[in-house]
Amino acid sequence: MKGKHRGSAMVFKSITTIAKSIVKRNDATKRLVLRVYNQYQGRKAKKELYLRIKNIDFDEYIDTSNKPDLNVIILTVDCLRYLNLSFTGYQRETTPFMDSLKAKFRAVSAAPWTYPSVASILTGLYPHNHNAYIHSKIKNFDTLKAFKPIKKSVLTLPEILFAFGYEIYFGTAIDVASYPLKSRVVPKLYLGDTPAEELLNDLRKWISKRKNSFFAYLQLGDVHEPIVPPEKFRNYFGQVENIPNIERWDFRRPEEQKGKEFEKYRRNRMLLYDNTLRYVDYAIERLYAFLEDSGLLDSTILLITADHGEEFWEHAELEAENFYDPRGYYGVGHGHNVFNEIIEVPILFDGAIKKKGDFTENRVSSVDIMPTVLDLLGVSHSLTFDGQNVFEVKNKKRPLLSEAAGYGYEKKALIMGRYKLLYAPDDGVQWLFDLKKDPSEQHPIKDREVTSVFVDKLNKMLKEDEKRRLINALRKVRI
Ligand SMILES: [Zn+2]
Repeated sequence: MKGKHRGSAMVFKSITTIAKSIVKRNDATKRLVLRVYNQYQGRKAKKELYLRIKNIDFDEYIDTSNKPDLNVIILTVDCLRYLNLSFTGYQRETTPFMDSLKAKFRAVSAAPWTYPSVASILTGLYPHNHNAYIHSKIKNFDTLKAFKPIKKSVLTLPEILFAFGYEIYFGTAIDVASYPLKSRVVPKLYLGDTPAEELLNDLRKWISKRKNSFFAYLQLGDVHEPIVPPEKFRNYFGQVENIPNIERWDFRRPEEQKGKEFEKYRRNRMLLYDNTLRYVDYAIERLYAFLEDSGLLDSTILLITADHGEEFWEHAELEAENFYDPRGYYGVGHGHNVFNEIIEVPILFDGAIKKKGDFTENRVSSVDIMPTVLDLLGVSHSLTFDGQNVFEVKNKKRPLLSEAAGYGYEKKALIMGRYKLLYAPDDGVQWLFDLKKDPSEQHPIKDREVTSVFVDKLNKMLKEDEKRRLINALRKVRI
């Protein structure tokens, strides 16, 4: 059997290699190949999912007799920078619809890039606890072997709701979002530049056919490079100049990051990002209207968030001087560091929630999403999370962690109230920022003693988790 599997895996690998060379040619072919891929992978994923679910004794963790009945929709906007949302006071009115939602939170994503971050959203655990991150000293995308999946003994939100008889939907324009969820969901993959409306229309069609309660997770790729918004939004806040490579990242190396051409690119790149964000907001508003019109809004928890933000050269110089990146890129994108433009995200609620308001004064975490949703659904369980219900947070200064870099050495951020530690020992960095005095994190506090208090706090937190993991390992794990 093993040989057979390996054989079919090899055949599949060569098919995907040929497919990849074809898909480069045109869009129609790309879509066709993806449809075939989705069907093939879908069947395989379904088998793996059922095999796993069959072996889980849900009653050990959850009171399955008390069945929830609210639907859940989580929309993750990949690369959505918190400070570019207009309710934060941003200069352009990028998100009038999201601004109007019932409850708003300012959050720290548990990781600065997609793979570990999506796993945290759907497990309520930090990457060092769910294990889905790159396990090599120097991290890069070419170290695929070092990518580990979510630990077998960890349950995900869709699995728990599946146990309650929910119908599950998982769609993503960014394929990396589906990788850590292998054998946990049957993913529907889209091309990275597929417009939000197409994904949301498919979701609407799927919802229209549901007879049972449902859980839907959708990850939108519009503001992730390549940024290709529909024509009617491309110049929404102003004309984007015709500059080569404006849809992707350019000026990634330190020596290129100066002069008029760079400034022009930088200005236009942000304009394109904002125009596209305005489009995403419009597309989500249409989904909301559909939920309202079909009478589903009052029975659905709608949650909008992001897996991480995006850097636009805010820390390019500091990074180039102090951090190692195997690609030689600094200051752009995500995954490479844990400055706030990369790890701050919104968590927004609407639909079937009772508490309303603007709760953005204190930060929460993306590991809070799963425990919050389970609480809102009224699920009783004995699961342990790193997060907690965002509507019931008592300690406003509880430590919030972001970790598991995608490039270079490991970097961790620990935010406690107004202070933030950026800890990257392999780069020789341990910086403490006072976010109140220095919100753009440009001037680390030069007090070693105070900084070491935060370093100790971080290490203690990680050590306690290690202990907890050992105790859990002693228990009989049935999964
Ligand atoms: Zn992402």
